[in-house]
Amino acid sequence: MDLQSRITTGNRSLKMYASRLEKLEIFTYMDFLFHLPSRYEDYSIVSKVADVQPGETVTIQGQVLDIKTNYMRGSRIKSMQKATLVDGTGSIELLWFNQPFLTRTILPNALISASGKVNTFGKSRKLSLQAPQYEVLSFDGNGIHTGRLIPVYPETQGVTSKWLRRQIHTILTEHYDLIHEYLPEDMIKKYGFIPFNQALKEIHYPKDLDSAASARERLAFDELFLMQLGSNKRRADWKEKQKGLPFVIKKYEKKIDDCINSLPFTLTDAQRVAITNIFDDVQKDKPMNRLLQGDVGSGKTVIAAISMYAAYLNGYQSVLMAPTEILANQHYKSILKLLEPLGVKIALATGSKKEGFKIKDLGLKNDNENHKSSILNPKSHIFNILIGTHAVLSDKITFNKLGLVIIDEQQRFGVAQRGTIRQKGDNPHLLTMTATPIPRTVALTMYGDLDLSYLNEMPHGRKRVKTWLVPPEKRDGAYDWIHKQITETDSQIFIVCPFIEPSESMTTVKAVAHEYERLSKEVYPDLKLGLLHGKLKAKEKDVVLQKFRDKEYDILVATPVVEVGIDIPNATVIMIEAAERFGLAQLHQLRGRVGRGDKQSYCLLFTESKSEGTNIRLQALETVYSGAELSELDLKLRGHGNLYGTAQHGVPKLKAASFSDTVLIQKAKHAADEIFPHIAEYKTLEEKLEATLNENISPD
Ligand code: ADP
Ligand code: MG
Repeated sequence: MDLQSRITTGNRSLKMYASRLEKLEIFTYMDFLFHLPSRYEDYSIVSKVADVQPGETVTIQGQVLDIKTNYMRGSRIKSMQKATLVDGTGSIELLWFNQPFLTRTILPNALISASGKVNTFGKSRKLSLQAPQYEVLSFDGNGIHTGRLIPVYPETQGVTSKWLRRQIHTILTEHYDLIHEYLPEDMIKKYGFIPFNQALKEIHYPKDLDSAASARERLAFDELFLMQLGSNKRRADWKEKQKGLPFVIKKYEKKIDDCINSLPFTLTDAQRVAITNIFDDVQKDKPMNRLLQGDVGSGKTVIAAISMYAAYLNGYQSVLMAPTEILANQHYKSILKLLEPLGVKIALATGSKKEGFKIKDLGLKNDNENHKSSILNPKSHIFNILIGTHAVLSDKITFNKLGLVIIDEQQRFGVAQRGTIRQKGDNPHLLTMTATPIPRTVALTMYGDLDLSYLNEMPHGRKRVKTWLVPPEKRDGAYDWIHKQITETDSQIFIVCPFIEPSESMTTVKAVAHEYERLSKEVYPDLKLGLLHGKLKAKEKDVVLQKFRDKEYDILVATPVVEVGIDIPNATVIMIEAAERFGLAQLHQLRGRVGRGDKQSYCLLFTESKSEGTNIRLQALETVYSGAELSELDLKLRGHGNLYGTAQHGVPKLKAASFSDTVLIQKAKHAADEIFPHIAEYKTLEEKLEATLNENISPD
């Protein structure tokens, strides 16, 4: 037995639970131990029956005098179990509902412990505990469901806290000696941590809330520390093992400047700094590994284009990979416009193996068979720059001399995909780009192995999107105002409905389709409306978007699928329903869909929420226009668990730690930086790190 063993190797009952436990991400025994309580129930006050008062939450220990089931007719409660518990000072009634099996698990004369809230019952005002937690006491009298601080866990269908408590308690008692310390002793001393095994025990069964807190702190530190060590290790591997392809920049400075000067705008200072960062990197003989982070609309594409131009001048090919066909197309068009006149040959690859690849280059016809095969023929490389979706990953597409890989919206790709694309060359430089306003603290821990460039500035002359929170009583007024915008200023409008469930399920689609009907019939019967949601086929989406772009629709009713990359400059109003369901950072991304042209744009946030906290949170959007600042706020106000779309955005789920705990993050980073150069001296820690790294790679 090893704590890393899968529970499917265990007893029959565990095997039966395996698929349910997957939903809680419990696969191994260790995962059980890391299924941390979301809170504790305080059943630590053990009282005598004679002392209890109605309303108190208590634990009573005593002997069961009798227990029986009464069946009832014609009510939702089909049966009631009633036991009498005596403890020498008096008797109290225990009541449960619909649990007839209890008469088999609690036998008369058993010594039991029961915890719950004291009620009075019936005319006699007899004391009772309703649906108490209970357990039959063992000899040592130490309960796992009663008589102390009791852990309450995140549950799922068919897996209760009570069941989890039993499993976790068993592992903790029977296999405690398998939990090994891996932090160096001097480090534990230096930071005043409790030992690892003690932390795992006390997070589940703390003596008191203070000891629960120190257990959590130890585990949180470990989590952040290992993450940071992982970053240090990846950085070291990248720098040590790889020999890069140094570019020459100086020689081509004039040409690059000419390219920049041919742009219809001047670069922002932030864009210039990012380009300088990139040029510094690519001239080295280590491959670049840089993350370019910038708010929606901050102008990342042009930085990608200029970098690829520099690669071209050095005789290298580049590839730019984007997560959606819409985005790939958009990049293709804008980069073609900039670089084709300078003699760069650009191709576009979209589609998939199943649907057939579509390759377009140099303005030649899309479905031209010859060009399809010429580009897919490994011997013929007629492009300098390839732009595409994940289609560029196809093993049919090869490169002669790949010098630069750029991944747009990198969080949408898995680790494996990011690796595959680089393997098409011989250690090409890598630039990843993201608009996800990852809070700085998160970026530092998560992406410690990458060099970061921030675009903290918007292009000049961009007008801020005026943002208003609209309460229910102003809804009709807002509808009228929108109508005016459309008819009087020829604007187009997005109306965004939220996901009803965590992902774009059928329920969501139904809700948005329903809203589309309602708006079309009742609110704007005189206008043309389109409907866009994620369950449409790629082609259908394209058609809807094209129609919106061609102004065949005045209003596009959509789910948050519009969030990534849609660029329709004539749309100047975005109206978001049930805004309280979104994180601030996500609302900010949505708001980025408008304000792309030179007209004043608006964002209307509709909410029916009466909660003051919610309204204050949403009002932040009226005054804060920085995505990074908003996501910090999200983190503070809603906590990491709710940080917008964390799963999709490649931000790992933390079990014990929180990304808003900057002090602990600093501490972990400091400790990791200090120990990493000497990690070879700490074998156990090194092994733990290897194991953690392997674990984190697999889910992709
Ligand atoms: P994102 O960073 O979200 O990918 P894009 O690269 O799509 O942003 O740029 C958004 C828009 O801003 C594009 O139309 C682009 O041409 C324009 N743009 C980029 N840089 C500047 C600039 N310095 N001044 C004015 N407009 C710019
Ligand atoms: Mg972009």
